[in-house]
Amino acid sequence: MPVDQQMDWRSNKILNFIGGELVEPVGGRYFDNIEPATGQPFALIPDSDEQDLERAVSAARAAFPGWRDTSPTQRAQIMNRLADLIEARMDEFIAAESRDNGKPESLAAAVDIPRGAANFRAFANMAEKFGGERFEKEQSSSYVLRTPIGVVSTISPWNLPLLLFTWKLAPALAAGNCVIAKPSEVTPMTAYMLSTLVNEAGFPPGVLNVIHGAGAKIGAAITAHPDIPAISFTGGTATGLAIYQAAAPNLKKVSLELGGKNPTIVFDDADFDIAVAGAKNAAFANQGQICLCGSRLFVHESIYDRFKQAFLEQVGDITIGDPQQTDTQHGAMVSEDHMEKVLSYIELAQQEGGTLLAGGQRRRLAGRCREGYFIEPTVFENLPSDCRTNQEEIFGPVVSLIPFSSEQQVLEMANSTSYGLAASVWTQDQQRAKRMAEKIDSGIVWINCWNLRDLDTPFGGMKKSGLGREGTWDAMHFFTQQKTVTTPKEQ
Ligand code: NDP
Repeated sequence: MPVDQQMDWRSNKILNFIGGELVEPVGGRYFDNIEPATGQPFALIPDSDEQDLERAVSAARAAFPGWRDTSPTQRAQIMNRLADLIEARMDEFIAAESRDNGKPESLAAAVDIPRGAANFRAFANMAEKFGGERFEKEQSSSYVLRTPIGVVSTISPWNLPLLLFTWKLAPALAAGNCVIAKPSEVTPMTAYMLSTLVNEAGFPPGVLNVIHGAGAKIGAAITAHPDIPAISFTGGTATGLAIYQAAAPNLKKVSLELGGKNPTIVFDDADFDIAVAGAKNAAFANQGQICLCGSRLFVHESIYDRFKQAFLEQVGDITIGDPQQTDTQHGAMVSEDHMEKVLSYIELAQQEGGTLLAGGQRRRLAGRCREGYFIEPTVFENLPSDCRTNQEEIFGPVVSLIPFSSEQQVLEMANSTSYGLAASVWTQDQQRAKRMAEKIDSGIVWINCWNLRDLDTPFGGMKKSGLGREGTWDAMHFFTQQKTVTTPKEQ
Protein backbone atom coordinates (compact mmCIF):
# COMPACT_ATOMS: atom_id res chain seq x y z
CA MET A 1 0.00 0.00 0.00
CA PRO A 2 1.45 3.47 -0.87
CA VAL A 3 2.69 5.50 2.11
CA ASP A 4 0.20 8.36 1.67
CA GLN A 5 -2.68 5.89 1.69
CA GLN A 6 -1.22 4.26 4.79
CA MET A 7 -1.11 7.66 6.55
CA ASP A 8 -4.68 8.16 5.54
CA TRP A 9 -6.11 4.98 7.05
CA ARG A 10 -3.98 5.19 10.18
CA SER A 11 -5.58 8.53 11.02
CA ASN A 12 -8.95 6.76 11.00
CA LYS A 13 -8.84 5.96 14.70
CA ILE A 14 -11.62 4.40 16.70
CA LEU A 15 -11.74 5.66 20.30
CA ASN A 16 -13.17 4.35 23.53
CA PHE A 17 -16.14 6.20 25.00
CA ILE A 18 -15.81 6.55 28.77
CA GLY A 19 -17.55 8.98 31.12
CA GLY A 20 -19.07 10.87 28.20
CA GLU A 21 -15.73 11.41 26.44
CA LEU A 22 -14.08 9.85 23.41
CA VAL A 23 -10.68 8.79 24.70
CA GLU A 24 -7.55 6.98 23.57
CA PRO A 25 -6.77 3.69 25.34
CA VAL A 26 -4.58 4.36 28.39
CA GLY A 27 -1.85 2.05 27.11
CA GLY A 28 -1.83 3.84 23.72
CA ARG A 29 -1.94 0.54 21.80
CA TYR A 30 -4.06 -0.13 18.71
CA PHE A 31 -4.52 -2.90 16.19
CA ASP A 32 -5.66 -2.82 12.58
CA ASN A 33 -9.26 -3.03 11.45
CA ILE A 34 -9.43 -4.95 8.17
CA GLU A 35 -12.06 -4.49 5.46
CA PRO A 36 -13.07 -8.09 4.60
CA ALA A 37 -14.08 -7.30 1.02
CA THR A 38 -10.59 -6.02 0.19
CA GLY A 39 -8.36 -7.61 2.82
CA GLN A 40 -6.89 -4.13 3.50
CA PRO A 41 -6.70 -2.25 6.82
CA PHE A 42 -8.83 0.88 7.02
CA ALA A 43 -8.93 1.92 10.68
CA LEU A 44 -7.23 1.46 14.05
CA ILE A 45 -8.94 -0.21 17.00
CA PRO A 46 -7.99 0.47 20.64
CA ASP A 47 -6.32 -2.49 22.31
CA SER A 48 -7.89 -1.65 25.69
CA ASP A 49 -6.78 -3.17 28.99
CA GLU A 50 -7.69 -3.21 32.69
CA GLN A 51 -6.81 0.48 33.11
CA ASP A 52 -9.46 1.46 30.59
CA LEU A 53 -11.92 -0.87 32.27
CA GLU A 54 -11.25 0.67 35.70
CA ARG A 55 -12.00 4.12 34.29
CA ALA A 56 -15.22 2.87 32.73
CA VAL A 57 -16.31 1.12 35.92
CA SER A 58 -15.65 4.30 37.97
CA ALA A 59 -17.59 6.43 35.48
CA ALA A 60 -20.49 3.98 35.41
CA ARG A 61 -20.64 3.67 39.20
CA ALA A 62 -20.67 7.45 39.58
CA ALA A 63 -23.47 7.79 37.02
CA PHE A 64 -25.66 5.00 38.39
CA PRO A 65 -27.60 6.79 41.20
CA GLY A 66 -28.65 9.59 38.84
CA TRP A 67 -29.67 7.27 35.99
CA ARG A 68 -31.51 4.91 38.34
CA ASP A 69 -33.55 7.84 39.62
CA THR A 70 -34.33 9.20 36.15
CA SER A 71 -37.97 8.53 35.34
CA PRO A 72 -38.75 5.82 32.77
CA THR A 73 -40.32 8.50 30.59
CA GLN A 74 -37.11 10.54 30.56
CA ARG A 75 -35.05 7.45 29.79
CA ALA A 76 -37.40 6.61 26.97
CA GLN A 77 -37.09 10.12 25.52
CA ILE A 78 -33.29 9.92 25.51
CA MET A 79 -33.32 6.47 23.93
CA ASN A 80 -35.76 7.57 21.26
CA ARG A 81 -33.49 10.54 20.50
CA LEU A 82 -30.60 8.14 20.01
CA ALA A 83 -32.75 6.14 17.59
CA ASP A 84 -33.56 9.41 15.74
CA LEU A 85 -29.84 10.22 15.48
CA ILE A 86 -29.03 6.78 14.04
CA GLU A 87 -31.83 7.14 11.51
CA ALA A 88 -30.65 10.61 10.52
CA ARG A 89 -27.27 9.06 9.64
CA MET A 90 -28.68 5.89 8.13
CA ASP A 91 -26.52 5.96 4.99
CA GLU A 92 -23.27 6.46 6.92
CA PHE A 93 -24.13 3.60 9.28
CA ILE A 94 -25.05 1.30 6.38
CA ALA A 95 -21.78 2.00 4.54
CA ALA A 96 -19.73 1.52 7.72
CA GLU A 97 -21.44 -1.74 8.70
CA SER A 98 -20.93 -3.19 5.26
CA ARG A 99 -17.30 -2.10 5.07
CA ASP A 100 -16.48 -3.44 8.54
CA ASN A 101 -18.30 -6.77 8.21
CA GLY A 102 -18.28 -7.61 4.49
CA LYS A 103 -22.07 -7.93 4.30
CA PRO A 104 -23.89 -6.40 1.31
CA GLU A 105 -24.96 -2.80 1.87
CA SER A 106 -28.44 -3.89 0.80
CA LEU A 107 -28.61 -6.25 3.79
CA ALA A 108 -27.31 -3.64 6.23
CA ALA A 109 -29.95 -1.26 4.84
CA ALA A 110 -32.78 -3.79 5.09
CA VAL A 111 -31.91 -5.35 8.44
CA ASP A 112 -28.94 -4.27 10.54
CA ILE A 113 -29.21 -0.52 10.83
CA PRO A 114 -33.01 -0.11 10.95
CA ARG A 115 -33.08 -2.80 13.67
CA GLY A 116 -30.26 -1.00 15.48
CA ALA A 117 -32.54 2.04 15.80
CA ALA A 118 -35.70 -0.05 16.35
CA ASN A 119 -34.12 -1.80 19.34
CA PHE A 120 -33.90 1.53 21.19
CA ARG A 121 -37.50 2.35 20.34
CA ALA A 122 -38.78 -1.07 21.43
CA PHE A 123 -37.11 -0.86 24.83
CA ALA A 124 -37.92 2.85 25.28
CA ASN A 125 -41.54 1.79 24.96
CA MET A 126 -40.93 -1.05 27.40
CA ALA A 127 -39.29 1.26 29.99
CA GLU A 128 -42.59 3.05 30.38
CA LYS A 129 -44.73 -0.10 30.61
CA PHE A 130 -42.52 -2.24 32.78
CA GLY A 131 -43.73 -3.05 36.28
CA GLY A 132 -44.03 -5.81 38.84
CA GLU A 133 -46.85 -8.15 39.74
CA ARG A 134 -49.32 -7.70 42.63
CA PHE A 135 -50.59 -10.46 44.94
CA GLU A 136 -53.68 -9.95 47.08
CA LYS A 137 -54.32 -12.58 49.77
CA GLU A 138 -56.57 -12.67 52.82
CA GLN A 139 -53.84 -11.61 55.24
CA SER A 140 -51.36 -9.80 53.04
CA SER A 141 -50.90 -7.49 50.13
CA SER A 142 -47.68 -7.84 48.14
CA TYR A 143 -46.10 -6.32 45.08
CA VAL A 144 -42.87 -6.95 43.21
CA LEU A 145 -40.45 -4.12 42.57
CA ARG A 146 -38.02 -4.56 39.69
CA THR A 147 -34.97 -2.39 40.27
CA PRO A 148 -31.86 -1.94 38.10
CA ILE A 149 -28.80 -4.04 38.93
CA GLY A 150 -26.19 -1.28 38.77
CA VAL A 151 -23.18 -1.49 36.44
CA VAL A 152 -23.71 -4.21 33.84
CA SER A 153 -21.79 -5.32 30.79
CA THR A 154 -22.76 -6.40 27.29
CA ILE A 155 -20.41 -8.40 25.04
CA SER A 156 -21.55 -8.81 21.45
CA PRO A 157 -20.31 -10.59 18.29
CA TRP A 158 -19.39 -9.54 14.76
CA ASN A 159 -22.11 -11.06 12.60
CA LEU A 160 -24.85 -8.46 13.19
CA PRO A 161 -22.69 -5.81 14.81
CA LEU A 162 -25.00 -2.85 15.52
CA LEU A 163 -28.13 -4.98 15.72
CA LEU A 164 -26.83 -7.25 18.48
CA PHE A 165 -24.89 -4.46 20.23
CA THR A 166 -28.07 -2.37 20.63
CA TRP A 167 -30.28 -5.41 21.33
CA LYS A 168 -28.39 -5.74 24.62
CA LEU A 169 -27.67 -2.10 25.39
CA ALA A 170 -31.24 -0.92 25.00
CA PRO A 171 -32.86 -3.11 27.70
CA ALA A 172 -29.95 -2.53 30.09
CA LEU A 173 -30.36 1.25 29.77
CA ALA A 174 -34.15 1.19 29.74
CA ALA A 175 -34.14 -0.70 33.03
CA GLY A 176 -31.94 2.00 34.62
CA ASN A 177 -28.52 0.36 34.56
CA CYS A 178 -25.21 1.92 33.56
CA VAL A 179 -23.43 -0.09 30.90
CA ILE A 180 -19.96 -1.08 29.86
CA ALA A 181 -20.37 -2.38 26.33
CA LYS A 182 -17.78 -4.34 24.41
CA PRO A 183 -18.41 -4.84 20.70
CA SER A 184 -16.42 -7.42 18.76
CA GLU A 185 -12.93 -6.28 17.87
CA VAL A 186 -13.63 -7.66 14.39
CA THR A 187 -16.45 -5.16 13.71
CA PRO A 188 -16.18 -2.16 16.05
CA MET A 189 -17.08 0.67 13.66
CA THR A 190 -20.82 1.15 14.09
CA ALA A 191 -20.55 0.78 17.87
CA TYR A 192 -17.97 3.56 17.76
CA MET A 193 -20.23 5.70 15.56
CA LEU A 194 -23.07 5.16 17.98
CA SER A 195 -20.85 6.25 20.88
CA THR A 196 -20.26 9.60 19.12
CA LEU A 197 -24.04 10.28 19.31
CA VAL A 198 -24.62 9.37 22.96
CA ASN A 199 -24.02 12.87 24.41
CA GLU A 200 -26.16 14.54 21.75
CA ALA A 201 -28.99 12.14 22.59
CA GLY A 202 -28.85 13.39 26.17
CA PHE A 203 -27.39 10.47 28.14
CA PRO A 204 -25.58 11.74 31.26
CA PRO A 205 -21.81 10.99 31.23
CA GLY A 206 -20.94 7.48 32.40
CA VAL A 207 -24.35 5.93 31.73
CA LEU A 208 -23.12 4.24 28.56
CA ASN A 209 -19.44 3.40 28.10
CA VAL A 210 -17.98 1.59 25.09
CA ILE A 211 -14.63 -0.17 25.33
CA HIS A 212 -12.94 -1.69 22.29
CA GLY A 213 -10.35 -4.43 22.26
CA ALA A 214 -9.60 -8.12 22.14
CA GLY A 215 -12.12 -10.49 23.69
CA ALA A 216 -9.46 -12.63 25.32
CA LYS A 217 -8.03 -9.55 27.06
CA ILE A 218 -10.60 -6.83 27.74
CA GLY A 219 -13.58 -9.21 27.43
CA ALA A 220 -12.05 -11.54 29.99
CA ALA A 221 -11.25 -8.59 32.29
CA ILE A 222 -14.89 -7.47 32.15
CA THR A 223 -16.08 -10.97 32.94
CA ALA A 224 -13.86 -11.23 36.00
CA HIS A 225 -14.45 -7.70 37.34
CA PRO A 226 -16.04 -7.85 40.82
CA ASP A 227 -18.04 -4.62 40.33
CA ILE A 228 -19.90 -5.81 37.23
CA PRO A 229 -22.56 -8.16 38.59
CA ALA A 230 -24.33 -8.97 35.31
CA ILE A 231 -23.11 -9.88 31.84
CA SER A 232 -25.19 -10.31 28.73
CA PHE A 233 -23.18 -12.20 26.11
CA THR A 234 -23.81 -13.27 22.53
CA GLY A 235 -21.15 -15.28 20.73
CA GLY A 236 -19.70 -18.75 20.30
CA THR A 237 -20.45 -21.60 22.69
CA ALA A 238 -16.79 -22.06 23.73
CA THR A 239 -16.53 -18.38 24.69
CA GLY A 240 -19.89 -18.56 26.47
CA LEU A 241 -18.70 -21.48 28.56
CA ALA A 242 -15.50 -19.61 29.48
CA ILE A 243 -17.57 -16.59 30.54
CA TYR A 244 -19.95 -18.74 32.56
CA GLN A 245 -17.03 -20.27 34.45
CA ALA A 246 -15.27 -16.93 34.98
CA ALA A 247 -18.50 -15.37 36.27
CA ALA A 248 -19.28 -18.18 38.73
CA PRO A 249 -16.94 -17.20 41.62
CA ASN A 250 -18.69 -13.82 41.88
CA LEU A 251 -22.17 -15.36 41.35
CA LYS A 252 -22.79 -12.98 38.47
CA LYS A 253 -26.01 -12.97 36.57
CA VAL A 254 -25.22 -14.26 33.07
CA SER A 255 -27.28 -14.38 29.88
CA LEU A 256 -25.74 -16.49 27.12
CA GLU A 257 -26.87 -16.48 23.47
CA LEU A 258 -24.62 -19.01 21.76
CA GLY A 259 -24.14 -21.04 18.61
CA GLY A 260 -26.53 -23.14 16.57
CA LYS A 261 -26.71 -25.99 14.05
CA ASN A 262 -30.22 -25.38 12.96
CA PRO A 263 -32.46 -27.75 11.00
CA THR A 264 -34.65 -26.66 8.10
CA ILE A 265 -37.27 -29.39 7.62
CA VAL A 266 -39.28 -29.57 4.40
CA PHE A 267 -42.22 -32.00 4.25
CA ASP A 268 -43.74 -33.28 1.03
CA ASP A 269 -46.90 -31.20 1.56
CA ALA A 270 -45.01 -27.89 1.88
CA ASP A 271 -45.73 -25.04 -0.52
CA PHE A 272 -42.86 -26.04 -2.79
CA ASP A 273 -41.71 -22.68 -4.18
CA ILE A 274 -42.00 -20.86 -0.88
CA ALA A 275 -40.07 -23.65 0.87
CA VAL A 276 -37.23 -23.60 -1.68
CA ALA A 277 -36.82 -19.82 -1.41
CA GLY A 278 -37.12 -19.95 2.39
CA ALA A 279 -34.54 -22.73 2.71
CA LYS A 280 -32.10 -20.85 0.49
CA ASN A 281 -32.50 -17.70 2.53
CA ALA A 282 -32.12 -19.64 5.79
CA ALA A 283 -28.90 -21.25 4.55
CA PHE A 284 -27.13 -18.29 2.98
CA ALA A 285 -28.37 -14.99 4.48
CA ASN A 286 -25.40 -12.90 5.63
CA GLN A 287 -23.10 -15.53 4.03
CA GLY A 288 -24.44 -18.10 6.48
CA GLN A 289 -23.14 -16.06 9.40
CA ILE A 290 -26.31 -15.81 11.46
CA CYS A 291 -26.72 -17.99 14.52
CA LEU A 292 -30.22 -18.82 13.20
CA CYS A 293 -29.10 -20.01 9.75
CA GLY A 294 -30.43 -23.40 8.66
CA SER A 295 -27.28 -25.33 7.83
CA ARG A 296 -28.92 -28.79 7.83
CA LEU A 297 -31.62 -29.03 5.18
CA PHE A 298 -33.85 -32.09 5.68
CA VAL A 299 -36.13 -32.81 2.72
CA HIS A 300 -38.76 -35.56 2.51
CA GLU A 301 -37.52 -38.35 0.24
CA SER A 302 -40.59 -38.19 -2.03
CA ILE A 303 -39.72 -34.62 -3.14
CA TYR A 304 -35.95 -34.77 -2.57
CA ASP A 305 -34.75 -34.86 -6.20
CA ARG A 306 -37.14 -32.18 -7.41
CA PHE A 307 -36.35 -30.00 -4.38
CA LYS A 308 -32.60 -30.44 -4.85
CA GLN A 309 -32.79 -29.34 -8.47
CA ALA A 310 -34.88 -26.24 -7.70
CA PHE A 311 -32.69 -25.38 -4.70
CA LEU A 312 -29.47 -25.65 -6.73
CA GLU A 313 -30.94 -23.44 -9.46
CA GLN A 314 -31.69 -20.73 -6.91
CA VAL A 315 -28.27 -21.09 -5.28
CA GLY A 316 -26.67 -20.73 -8.70
CA ASP A 317 -28.49 -17.41 -9.15
CA ILE A 318 -27.06 -15.82 -6.00
CA THR A 319 -24.97 -12.78 -6.98
CA ILE A 320 -21.58 -12.79 -5.25
CA GLY A 321 -19.87 -9.42 -5.37
CA ASP A 322 -18.53 -6.23 -3.90
CA PRO A 323 -20.75 -5.48 -0.87
CA GLN A 324 -21.02 -1.89 -2.07
CA GLN A 325 -22.72 -2.89 -5.35
CA THR A 326 -26.49 -2.63 -5.20
CA ASP A 327 -27.10 -5.99 -6.91
CA THR A 328 -24.78 -7.97 -4.58
CA GLN A 329 -26.60 -10.61 -2.55
CA HIS A 330 -23.61 -12.48 -1.13
CA GLY A 331 -20.68 -10.52 0.31
CA ALA A 332 -17.40 -11.37 2.03
CA MET A 333 -16.74 -13.54 5.06
CA VAL A 334 -15.96 -11.40 8.09
CA SER A 335 -12.22 -12.14 8.34
CA GLU A 336 -9.42 -14.16 6.82
CA ASP A 337 -9.33 -16.44 9.88
CA HIS A 338 -13.02 -17.12 9.64
CA MET A 339 -12.81 -17.73 5.89
CA GLU A 340 -10.04 -20.28 6.50
CA LYS A 341 -12.12 -21.98 9.18
CA VAL A 342 -15.10 -22.32 6.83
CA LEU A 343 -12.87 -23.57 3.98
CA SER A 344 -11.44 -26.20 6.33
CA TYR A 345 -14.98 -27.43 7.02
CA ILE A 346 -15.62 -27.67 3.27
CA GLU A 347 -12.52 -29.85 3.02
CA LEU A 348 -13.69 -31.91 5.99
CA ALA A 349 -17.09 -32.47 4.38
CA GLN A 350 -15.35 -33.95 1.35
CA GLN A 351 -13.16 -36.15 3.54
CA GLU A 352 -16.31 -37.35 5.28
CA GLY A 353 -17.66 -38.55 1.95
CA GLY A 354 -19.93 -35.63 1.09
CA THR A 355 -20.85 -34.99 -2.55
CA LEU A 356 -20.26 -31.36 -3.48
CA LEU A 357 -23.27 -30.08 -5.42
CA ALA A 358 -22.44 -26.36 -5.60
CA GLY A 359 -19.69 -23.91 -4.65
CA GLY A 360 -16.90 -25.17 -2.41
CA GLN A 361 -14.28 -22.58 -3.31
CA ARG A 362 -12.92 -19.24 -2.28
CA ARG A 363 -14.16 -16.79 -4.94
CA ARG A 364 -11.60 -14.34 -6.31
CA LEU A 365 -13.25 -11.16 -7.56
CA ALA A 366 -11.72 -8.61 -9.89
CA GLY A 367 -10.80 -5.01 -9.03
CA ARG A 368 -10.91 -3.57 -5.54
CA CYS A 369 -12.11 -6.88 -4.02
CA ARG A 370 -9.40 -9.13 -5.51
CA GLU A 371 -7.95 -9.91 -2.05
CA GLY A 372 -11.37 -10.15 -0.37
CA TYR A 373 -12.56 -13.08 1.71
CA PHE A 374 -15.36 -14.47 -0.46
CA ILE A 375 -16.64 -18.05 -0.34
CA GLU A 376 -19.17 -19.44 -2.80
CA PRO A 377 -22.54 -20.64 -1.51
CA THR A 378 -21.79 -24.33 -0.96
CA VAL A 379 -24.13 -27.33 -0.98
CA PHE A 380 -23.34 -30.92 0.03
CA GLU A 381 -25.31 -34.14 0.08
CA ASN A 382 -24.65 -37.75 1.11
CA LEU A 383 -23.28 -36.83 4.51
CA PRO A 384 -24.50 -38.94 7.44
CA SER A 385 -26.43 -36.99 10.05
CA ASP A 386 -23.89 -37.80 12.76
CA CYS A 387 -20.73 -36.68 10.93
CA ARG A 388 -18.86 -33.59 12.12
CA THR A 389 -20.02 -31.48 9.18
CA ASN A 390 -23.61 -32.12 10.25
CA GLN A 391 -22.97 -31.73 13.97
CA GLU A 392 -20.62 -28.76 14.39
CA GLU A 393 -21.39 -25.10 13.81
CA ILE A 394 -19.60 -23.92 10.65
CA PHE A 395 -21.08 -20.41 10.60
CA GLY A 396 -20.61 -19.93 6.89
CA PRO A 397 -22.33 -20.46 3.52
CA VAL A 398 -22.35 -24.25 3.74
CA VAL A 399 -25.53 -26.34 3.76
CA SER A 400 -25.98 -30.08 3.86
CA LEU A 401 -28.99 -31.72 2.15
CA ILE A 402 -30.35 -34.77 3.98
CA PRO A 403 -33.36 -36.87 2.85
CA PHE A 404 -35.80 -38.29 5.42
CA SER A 405 -38.69 -40.73 5.34
CA SER A 406 -40.79 -40.03 8.45
CA GLU A 407 -41.51 -37.48 11.15
CA GLN A 408 -39.88 -39.71 13.74
CA GLN A 409 -36.70 -40.09 11.72
CA VAL A 410 -36.32 -36.39 10.98
CA LEU A 411 -36.96 -35.48 14.62
CA GLU A 412 -34.20 -37.83 15.75
CA MET A 413 -31.76 -36.34 13.26
CA ALA A 414 -32.84 -32.74 13.95
CA ASN A 415 -32.37 -33.23 17.70
CA SER A 416 -29.09 -35.12 17.42
CA THR A 417 -26.70 -32.14 17.82
CA SER A 418 -25.54 -30.51 21.04
CA TYR A 419 -27.24 -27.26 19.92
CA GLY A 420 -30.88 -26.19 20.14
CA LEU A 421 -31.33 -22.64 18.91
CA ALA A 422 -33.76 -22.40 15.98
CA ALA A 423 -35.63 -24.65 13.55
CA SER A 424 -37.86 -24.00 10.57
CA VAL A 425 -40.55 -26.46 9.51
CA TRP A 426 -42.25 -26.29 6.13
CA THR A 427 -45.61 -28.06 5.92
CA GLN A 428 -49.23 -27.20 5.25
CA ASP A 429 -50.48 -29.73 7.81
CA GLN A 430 -51.21 -27.71 10.96
CA GLN A 431 -51.32 -30.77 13.22
CA ARG A 432 -47.95 -31.92 11.99
CA ALA A 433 -46.53 -28.42 12.50
CA LYS A 434 -47.82 -28.49 16.09
CA ARG A 435 -46.34 -31.95 16.75
CA MET A 436 -42.97 -30.89 15.36
CA ALA A 437 -42.93 -27.64 17.37
CA GLU A 438 -43.54 -29.61 20.55
CA LYS A 439 -40.85 -32.19 19.89
CA ILE A 440 -37.99 -30.26 18.35
CA ASP A 441 -35.27 -29.36 20.87
CA SER A 442 -34.98 -25.74 19.96
CA GLY A 443 -35.74 -22.38 21.57
CA ILE A 444 -37.35 -21.00 18.43
CA VAL A 445 -39.47 -22.84 15.86
CA TRP A 446 -40.62 -21.12 12.69
CA ILE A 447 -43.46 -22.68 10.69
CA ASN A 448 -43.40 -21.86 6.96
CA CYS A 449 -41.03 -18.95 7.54
CA TRP A 450 -37.54 -18.25 8.76
CA ASN A 451 -36.22 -15.43 10.95
CA LEU A 452 -39.59 -13.73 11.21
CA ARG A 453 -38.98 -11.80 14.42
CA ASP A 454 -41.40 -10.30 16.91
CA LEU A 455 -39.17 -8.43 19.36
CA ASP A 456 -41.55 -9.05 22.27
CA THR A 457 -41.24 -12.85 22.04
CA PRO A 458 -38.61 -14.80 24.02
CA PHE A 459 -35.44 -15.38 22.01
CA GLY A 460 -32.75 -17.90 22.87
CA GLY A 461 -31.62 -21.48 22.77
CA MET A 462 -31.64 -24.83 24.53
CA LYS A 463 -28.72 -27.17 25.20
CA LYS A 464 -25.38 -25.61 24.17
CA SER A 465 -27.14 -22.77 22.34
CA GLY A 466 -27.51 -20.76 25.48
CA LEU A 467 -28.87 -19.90 28.85
CA GLY A 468 -31.74 -17.50 29.43
CA ARG A 469 -33.83 -15.59 26.93
CA GLU A 470 -33.76 -12.18 25.32
CA GLY A 471 -36.80 -10.37 23.86
CA THR A 472 -38.32 -7.27 25.36
CA TRP A 473 -39.88 -8.74 28.53
CA ASP A 474 -37.16 -11.32 29.15
CA ALA A 475 -34.32 -8.86 28.66
CA MET A 476 -35.94 -6.36 31.04
CA HIS A 477 -36.23 -9.15 33.60
CA PHE A 478 -32.58 -10.06 33.12
CA PHE A 479 -31.41 -6.49 33.67
CA THR A 480 -33.42 -5.98 36.87
CA GLN A 481 -33.60 -7.59 40.28
CA GLN A 482 -36.81 -8.35 42.08
CA LYS A 483 -37.87 -7.20 45.52
CA THR A 484 -41.05 -8.54 47.03
CA VAL A 485 -42.73 -5.97 49.28
CA THR A 486 -45.42 -7.25 51.66
CA THR A 487 -47.76 -5.46 54.06
CA PRO A 488 -50.34 -7.07 56.39
CA LYS A 489 -54.02 -6.52 55.77
CA GLU A 490 -56.10 -5.16 58.60
CA GLN A 491 -57.90 -8.02 60.36
P1 NDP B 1 -16.96 -15.11 19.91
O1 NDP B 1 -17.46 -15.98 20.97
O2 NDP B 1 -15.61 -15.32 19.37
O3 NDP B 1 -16.99 -13.58 20.37
C1 NDP B 1 -18.16 -12.94 20.86
C2 NDP B 1 -17.73 -11.77 21.71
O4 NDP B 1 -17.04 -12.24 22.86
C3 NDP B 1 -16.79 -10.81 21.01
O5 NDP B 1 -17.04 -9.49 21.44
C4 NDP B 1 -15.45 -11.29 21.51
O6 NDP B 1 -14.47 -10.29 21.42
C5 NDP B 1 -15.76 -11.62 22.95
N1 NDP B 1 -14.84 -12.53 23.59
C6 NDP B 1 -13.98 -13.43 23.03
N2 NDP B 1 -13.31 -14.11 23.99
C7 NDP B 1 -13.76 -13.64 25.18
C8 NDP B 1 -13.47 -13.95 26.55
N3 NDP B 1 -12.58 -14.89 26.90
N4 NDP B 1 -14.12 -13.27 27.51
C9 NDP B 1 -15.04 -12.34 27.21
N5 NDP B 1 -15.35 -12.00 25.94
C10 NDP B 1 -14.72 -12.65 24.94
O7 NDP B 1 -18.07 -15.15 18.78
P2 NDP B 1 -18.02 -14.51 17.34
O8 NDP B 1 -17.80 -13.03 17.48
O9 NDP B 1 -17.07 -15.32 16.53
O10 NDP B 1 -19.51 -14.71 16.86
C11 NDP B 1 -19.96 -15.85 16.23
C12 NDP B 1 -20.67 -16.76 17.21
O11 NDP B 1 -21.74 -16.06 17.84
C13 NDP B 1 -21.29 -17.96 16.54
O12 NDP B 1 -21.05 -19.11 17.30
C14 NDP B 1 -22.77 -17.63 16.55
O13 NDP B 1 -23.60 -18.75 16.52
C15 NDP B 1 -22.91 -16.87 17.82
N6 NDP B 1 -24.09 -16.04 17.79
C16 NDP B 1 -25.17 -16.39 18.57
C17 NDP B 1 -26.34 -15.65 18.52
C18 NDP B 1 -27.51 -15.99 19.38
O14 NDP B 1 -28.38 -15.13 19.55
N7 NDP B 1 -27.60 -17.17 19.95
C19 NDP B 1 -26.47 -14.51 17.61
C20 NDP B 1 -25.29 -14.23 16.86
C21 NDP B 1 -24.14 -14.98 16.95
P3 NDP B 1 -13.52 -10.22 20.13
O15 NDP B 1 -14.35 -10.39 18.92
O16 NDP B 1 -13.01 -8.86 20.28
O17 NDP B 1 -12.54 -11.33 20.30
